[in-house]
Amino acid sequence: MKIAVAGIIQETCSFSPVKTTLRNFKISLGDEVVLSADAGGVIGGFLSAMEHSCCSFTGTLNAQAMSGGSLSSSTLLFLRKKLLNGLGKVRGFDAVFISLHGAMASDDEPDACGLILEDVRKLVGSRCFVAVELDHHANVTRRMVSAADVIAGYEKQPHDLAVSGAKMARVMSDILKCGLKPHASLVKIPMLAPQDNFLTSSGPMKEWFSLAREMEKDGEVIVASTFPTQPWLDAPDNGWSCLVYADSPEKARRCAEQLAAKAWRMRKEFWHSERLPLSETIAAANSEPKGLVVISDTGDAVLGGAPGDNMSIIAEMLKHDLNGTALVPVVAPDAFAKALAAGAGSKITLSLGGRMSAGFSPRLKISGTVRAFAGAGDFMFDDGRRRPKGRSALFEHGNLKIAILELRDYSINHPSLYQNLGVDVEKAQMVVLKTGSNFQYFKEYQSRLIRADSPGPTQSDLTAFKWEKRSRPLYPFDGIKNWRP
Ligand SMILES: [Zn+2]
Repeated sequence: MKIAVAGIIQETCSFSPVKTTLRNFKISLGDEVVLSADAGGVIGGFLSAMEHSCCSFTGTLNAQAMSGGSLSSSTLLFLRKKLLNGLGKVRGFDAVFISLHGAMASDDEPDACGLILEDVRKLVGSRCFVAVELDHHANVTRRMVSAADVIAGYEKQPHDLAVSGAKMARVMSDILKCGLKPHASLVKIPMLAPQDNFLTSSGPMKEWFSLAREMEKDGEVIVASTFPTQPWLDAPDNGWSCLVYADSPEKARRCAEQLAAKAWRMRKEFWHSERLPLSETIAAANSEPKGLVVISDTGDAVLGGAPGDNMSIIAEMLKHDLNGTALVPVVAPDAFAKALAAGAGSKITLSLGGRMSAGFSPRLKISGTVRAFAGAGDFMFDDGRRRPKGRSALFEHGNLKIAILELRDYSINHPSLYQNLGVDVEKAQMVVLKTGSNFQYFKEYQSRLIRADSPGPTQSDLTAFKWEKRSRPLYPFDGIKNWRP
């Protein structure tokens, strides 16, 4: 069997003003997609799980970008053309495996992944098998489901990408080897929830995902996926999704409905929050007897698409007499250039941040000392994936140590950002992470985690955004009585 392999990943935050363009994508084409697939990525996981199968694999396109604002229309058009060109060059394949995010939008297409899958189906015809792996923060649409033969979502947050790819390899092999006919049932749940309870290791999310894993033990269920859609996608028909493939339509429908009913019953639990107002956050972190306190800047989560230059937490820190070192990252290419021109050891005043986060953040003038610089290179994930990383500077104002990043890159939530600047992370009192879920890299140092109720395009107060396209009614915005799947 010959399988064409592709991937297009970007998660869109509709409230982020920073547009995503082609420059933001790392792109591989043709054979490179397969030959240099990251072992820790979805495609790498899929290929290594298929290693001993008798299938052959041909790469088409792999395009990966960080979460951010919506894609420009020309970027989406370019990616669609490259994918179709790539598929067009592969002769006589029997199946397509494609890794998508599922919550990607462009300026004029709220369901970019649905459109991509429709393109693929038109090109490959009805007899070709199309298997799709989605991030479980996808907004699954009927268009996606009609165009694919099978779709599965990730099982864990933080995501384990290679395991997700391997899962689809198993699902696909089962279907094709045993000649199964997967019947799909998609149930949309009219609700959204902030990221406060998105971790799948505990709480209501664990309970909900576990039910899907239980269902998959049933011989008639091929794959069951739960999708707590990321809450910053302003798109029609948005909301959480349950998608089940089973041997019969009845079984698929019953399981999808059961999953949906469970999430709906637990909806208030998903909105439970331990966030603290900014003043309380800093006071609590400052009085913690033993660092390191991890402060989650929920409104400026770069992994959710926010810009990374929100100064609200720093503004609050400046009102306090900090007992120990506070580490805070800011994406600010202009301030980085100024620090670089001044040189290490110089005392300067910088206008910092609040540019991309305008409307959510002040722009602050801070005087301090430029202490150190770190060079550009590759950011290495623990699973071996590499992504480009920009230069950084350490800017010190009393106990406040600000890491100024030249680029918005993955190092922003990793201890290596500070270590490369000569800072002993272990001795710090608090560190701000621009994420609502990915605290794993600081786990060995962390004494306490505080979720700060900070403003920004990924803030937890979803009711404060100006929604234009979202589906209606939707919990908790609209009153919904007696909803049933
Ligand atoms: Zn995700």
